[in-house]
Amino acid sequence: MKKIDILGIPFDNLTKKQFVTEIMNNSDANKKTFIVTANPEIVMYAKENTSYSCLLHEADYITADGIGVIKASHMLNTPIIERVAGFDLMISLLEEANKKNKRVYFLGAKKEVVKLATENVATNYPNIIICGFHDGYFGANDSTIMESVQASNPDFIFVALGFPRQEEWIHTYLKTASKGILMGVGGSFDVLSG
Ligand code: UDP
Repeated sequence: MKKIDILGIPFDNLTKKQFVTEIMNNSDANKKTFIVTANPEIVMYAKENTSYSCLLHEADYITADGIGVIKASHMLNTPIIERVAGFDLMISLLEEANKKNKRVYFLGAKKEVVKLATENVATNYPNIIICGFHDGYFGANDSTIMESVQASNPDFIFVALGFPRQEEWIHTYLKTASKGILMGVGGSFDVLSG
């Protein structure tokens, strides 16, 4: 599918509904999928940081997360159809995951935050199988987390480590994993826990 380039980042010009349909199809087919929800901060950071920019180019989907990105797309005469915020996309995916009894892992945020967030998910989406959760305060070289996430066989992994770390973690994970829909969700667990 044709991507829309905004300052070097290849965005997908899809509505939230279209993203959800494609991502759920990928999940049903066990197709590994890397989703980035890129706000203006991410775009500007990638502009200055080549390795992060290269990593974003390996994502399967990049959504325009922020009115600034939408405005830039209009100024460049390549309008993006809809703003798709990370938190909103995560909620839509949780709704679909609930309908299909998917296995979901939550990685990131502070210990008490991720615990509360998963408790709220369990209450609101009772058919989701929460196959695990872990806080986001572990060493950069700690491979045991990656191994235990993989061993829990998740269909979806929401990674709330803040950028650029969450995208770096996802990129490394996908090198060895055989399946999984992975998405960096920034501060979303803090909202989910409230
Ligand atoms: N975080 C984490 N480990 C870290 C640093 C941050 O788990 O080493 C979490 C933090 O607790 C918060 C989220 O990552 O829940 C970062 O949220 P923020 O809104 O700053 O995300 P950004 O907009 O930077 O992607």
